[in-house]
Amino acid sequence: MINVPKGTKDCLPEESYKWQFVEEKIRKITRNFGVKEIRTPTFEHTEVFTHGVGDTTDIVNKEMYTFLDKGNRSITLKPEGTASIARSFIENGMKNYAMPVKMYYITPCFRYERPQAGRLREFHQFGVEVYGSKEASIDAECIILAKNFLDELGVKVKLLINSIGCKECRKAFNDALKNYLESQLEGMCPTCKDRFSRNPLRILDCKESGCKEIIKNAPSILDYLCKDCSTHFEALKEYLSLAKVEYEIDDKIVRGLDYYTKTVFEFVSDSIGAQGTVCGGGRYDGLIADLGGNDISGVGFAMGIERLLLVMENIGVEIERTDKVKFYLLGIGEEESKKAFELAINLRANGVSTEIDHMNRSVKAQFKYADKINAEFVGVIGSDELANGVVSVKEMATGKEQKVKIENLLEYLL
Ligand code: ATP
Ligand code: MG
Repeated sequence: MINVPKGTKDCLPEESYKWQFVEEKIRKITRNFGVKEIRTPTFEHTEVFTHGVGDTTDIVNKEMYTFLDKGNRSITLKPEGTASIARSFIENGMKNYAMPVKMYYITPCFRYERPQAGRLREFHQFGVEVYGSKEASIDAECIILAKNFLDELGVKVKLLINSIGCKECRKAFNDALKNYLESQLEGMCPTCKDRFSRNPLRILDCKESGCKEIIKNAPSILDYLCKDCSTHFEALKEYLSLAKVEYEIDDKIVRGLDYYTKTVFEFVSDSIGAQGTVCGGGRYDGLIADLGGNDISGVGFAMGIERLLLVMENIGVEIERTDKVKFYLLGIGEEESKKAFELAINLRANGVSTEIDHMNRSVKAQFKYADKINAEFVGVIGSDELANGVVSVKEMATGKEQKVKIENLLEYLL
């Protein structure tokens, strides 16, 4: 037997309605905020991610699906959404669009990770990207959009915010941090020992217990923000308060990617254990320039849809089924079945989901089947009904039965 590759999953017919529910909410909320969809290719030239995500990140160092194609080009399956969109922004001259440019995406992502609950090798992200505004109000708008969306799904989360400053304030902070960590390197994990020289900020994000203990007393980035960055952070907090969005400040949040500046945030759920971060985002003012474009600011977030569905399942959110069959129509005998076939075509053309028999089942088995697929109404055409141009229709929930004229059937079911 051939199985799916490790860390990947089928989305089966019995659960796809959950995905559709989430995707419909995404489309509804983004419309309210004037955010338009962008779709970019599933794979990119590898440089998009080595430049755009950063070569000191876990994603680029350990997790990418990279291969040479038959033309000897280095290709990578996208591990996240932002870098591809920044590439597209530059390539398509979006700097000439009316600013800010607000986009969202729903995309598969690929990361070579150790699969576990809420951690897959192929997963899906919903994300928002806004380019062209330096104002803290847009950081707030992104956060509010994400919060509105999570609220609408019935997912309770905690919002954690932080500012990691700009290149300038980070320089001073990195020195202070290294100063503090230097004498404690011994107790830190191998990854953090490596980060110490390459990207000390990322040590704050480490999940290893030894490192966590050491980090507790580390200096706070918030004490090192320059005037501009601290004004921006104050403004963000004010906008969030105006929107009545509750938050906690967590100066240990730095996010996994290299391109962040100023605002960083996470939405965390306590219902799925260690993989609790449902959504992560922030501001990335240097990204477009890093990828060869102009000096254009960016801000956005990404959330994992599988993780979101897992949280929803764990907290018992009921998702309304949109894949229900309205009408099962059954003909007793050959002529009657042909009539059912014909009527079904007309009903579907008019928006009533209708099923008929294709398995040559007995009448009894058909009733059983109609029950199994949860049909809202079941119609029967026997010889009497055929002769009189009616259908006997039963409403399954109430048991109410009624003979309905064929010409009134559509109206009755609608
Ligand atoms: P984590 O700390 O859990 O590894 P991350 O910092 O790598 O997350 P991001 O790169 O910010 O995550 O991606 C945004 C969101 O995508 C995460 O908050 C999470 O919901 C989801 N996500 C990330 N990696 C995976 C994965 N391997 N499987 C499923 N969802 C994922
Ligand atoms: Mg990760």
